[in-house]
Amino acid sequence: MSRQMNRVRCLVLNAALGPLDYKVPEGMTVELGQVVECPLGPRTVVGIVWEAERLPGTDVPAEKLRGLRGLYPIPPLPEPLRRLIEWTADYYVASLASVARMALSSGGALKGPASITEYRLTGGMPERMTPQRLAAMEALEGEQATIRELSGIAGVSEGVLRGLVNQGVLEPVEVDCDRPYEEARPDYAQVELSDQQHEAAEIFSAAVREKKFAPFLLDGVTGSGKTETYFEPVAEALRMGRQVLVLLPEIALTENFLHRFEERFGVQPVLWHSSLKSTERRRAWRAVASGDAQVVVGARSALFLPFAKLGLIVVDEAHETSFKQEDGVRYNARDVAVMRAHFEGFPIILASATPALESLQMAESGIYSKVDLPSRFGGAQLPDIDTIDLKEEKPPHGMWLAQRLVDGIAERLERGEQSLLFLNRRGYAPLTLCRNCGFRYQCPNCSAWLVEHRFTRRLACHHCGHEAPSPAQCKECGEPDCLVACGPGVERIADEVAERLPEARVFVATSDTLNSPGRAAEFIAAVEAKEIDVIVGTQLVTKGFHFPELTLVGVVDADLGLEGGDLRAGERTYQQVAQVAGRAGRGSKPGEVLIQTRHPEASVIAALAAGDRDAFYSAETEMRRDAGAPPFGRWASIIVSSEDEAEAREAARRIGDTRPDVPDCMILGPAPAPMAQLRGRYRYRLLMNARRSVQLQDVIRNWLSRIDHPPGVRVAVDVDPYSFV
Ligand code: ADP
Ligand code: ZN
Repeated sequence: MSRQMNRVRCLVLNAALGPLDYKVPEGMTVELGQVVECPLGPRTVVGIVWEAERLPGTDVPAEKLRGLRGLYPIPPLPEPLRRLIEWTADYYVASLASVARMALSSGGALKGPASITEYRLTGGMPERMTPQRLAAMEALEGEQATIRELSGIAGVSEGVLRGLVNQGVLEPVEVDCDRPYEEARPDYAQVELSDQQHEAAEIFSAAVREKKFAPFLLDGVTGSGKTETYFEPVAEALRMGRQVLVLLPEIALTENFLHRFEERFGVQPVLWHSSLKSTERRRAWRAVASGDAQVVVGARSALFLPFAKLGLIVVDEAHETSFKQEDGVRYNARDVAVMRAHFEGFPIILASATPALESLQMAESGIYSKVDLPSRFGGAQLPDIDTIDLKEEKPPHGMWLAQRLVDGIAERLERGEQSLLFLNRRGYAPLTLCRNCGFRYQCPNCSAWLVEHRFTRRLACHHCGHEAPSPAQCKECGEPDCLVACGPGVERIADEVAERLPEARVFVATSDTLNSPGRAAEFIAAVEAKEIDVIVGTQLVTKGFHFPELTLVGVVDADLGLEGGDLRAGERTYQQVAQVAGRAGRGSKPGEVLIQTRHPEASVIAALAAGDRDAFYSAETEMRRDAGAPPFGRWASIIVSSEDEAEAREAARRIGDTRPDVPDCMILGPAPAPMAQLRGRYRYRLLMNARRSVQLQDVIRNWLSRIDHPPGVRVAVDVDPYSFV
């Protein structure tokens, strides 16, 4: 490794090119993985030294090679991370550069040590107050950030803020970008584990000490204390001076998590997610690369960070579909995390109360070790689950809650306990139409109906974000006040509760209302202070929360997830309902769950009501085996899109016409995707279903590389797809 390299092959990041060869200039020493400045045409771009030798048949004579321009002052990407990048690109049929970009995910970090100027309020007043200045000063209370970031926070122009700086209302503060994080203390507050938890924690900690690849499935019912249990191996890794990565599915989870982490380790962990400020991002990235960041808690993008000495990964709520990235490189962070542990040689814990069938299958076949926590901590009982057959117990006309469910809420109200109603639909109603002419409001960019949001008086598309004010009259026939809402969303359910139980204090908990860590914290505090009686929420509230006074959970429409009917619909419904049911009765009071359905006989619903998880999983496993679906067979989809309908159709046809004939591999389509238009692009898809023995990625690469398309056409490959729209 210490051999001096004279020419190197570099992965150039900001270009759609394969690796390029460069000369190492006299006096420069590079290592594999080093991040370097590469000349490309008239520009200089970021590259990573990927190989020492050129591959045969590509020799550009040495005198024709251009020289590297310089080195970035950061540690080289370690060898196992480079292997992970290669594996990911290969497995998900993505370019190396697009995967490597996820590892170098902070442009600022490349520049080396630095300080920046941030600004904060001084408490002074401007000579002349304007509405804009006043609004800015209110919004910036307690904030400190760069002018540009403050302008985003306050919603005023940078010019307004510069004016305030000149007036002495804002003052500059020099900030060291790399100031160290406080040290986490593995023994800050040890908790007393139950025997069951202790046994599990010991298995994990021993594996951390072993420093070898060891994948675990931590299968514990809701409320069993999975977090407390996996905090022990986290502490063990810290004692050994190794880093830990905890992946969480959604950022809304972290408020609750951060609090528990701080209670256990005395400090906040290092956070990583998409809405970090660029300075925070840079600071975290550099601390990860230097080894100073001890525990990183992050969303899936944290997976490719260049840890110096990672010793453990925990994937919490590992069954969550949000670990699957649905654009760019379509990878599944849960699966790639296991590969990372494999390449680097350390244990990984996948924690869940409702593991993915794929993970259970891996445990079954002995590849993962399964560790169980079969009972709730502190003797709390799992809730009683019952179904309400909506065909028998019909809600009143124009309403959505059966009387038995409303009575259940009323009982809780009387006892001063809380209820949660779960419906995975934001907004007031999923469809809005004109009573007079039947006109339906559709998104101009997507094959989707617009969803009415009464709080904000807007119609919104949940796919592309398109928004318009709710019209006072029909767009089509001009009739005033004629819009009718069809079907319920959470806002409508909240209205219904308010109408039928006027004394109840109702809160709608969705990504619209809990859209920042601060809002989420306020919500938790309000529930804990019993200022809320009934929570009406989407899947955002199905996990992570621990409210001891919450004793009733109502599932408003358990059939919703089963519509559309992709092969994972049953599993997803099971997981979602089991998770939300797990919010009930977590304290000393017993919990009850009422599931509203039109199909109480469906195997998912029956298994939920009977609390018979094994029955559900084995039925589901057989169904997947018969269908050749994962984990028994494999799927991949190819999505062809363009802003031009004819162009998309033609490109899809050409791909379809050149389909390879491969044994044990079926190729369906092309057909218009169920979401035939998305964000203004027309979409066609092909679906492949193959036996595990087929080298599916090679087949796809060979096939697609033979066809050229007009520049407006995008061809996306999705290996092990979760989304079938
Ligand atoms: P899960 O993630 O398995 O649903 P949690 O980790 O959220 O369960 O634990 C449920 C509740 O029980 C939490 O409030 C947690 O603090 C508490 N708990 C679990 N184990 C212990 C323990 N050993 N000592 C004290 N409290 C515990
Ligand atoms: Zn849209």
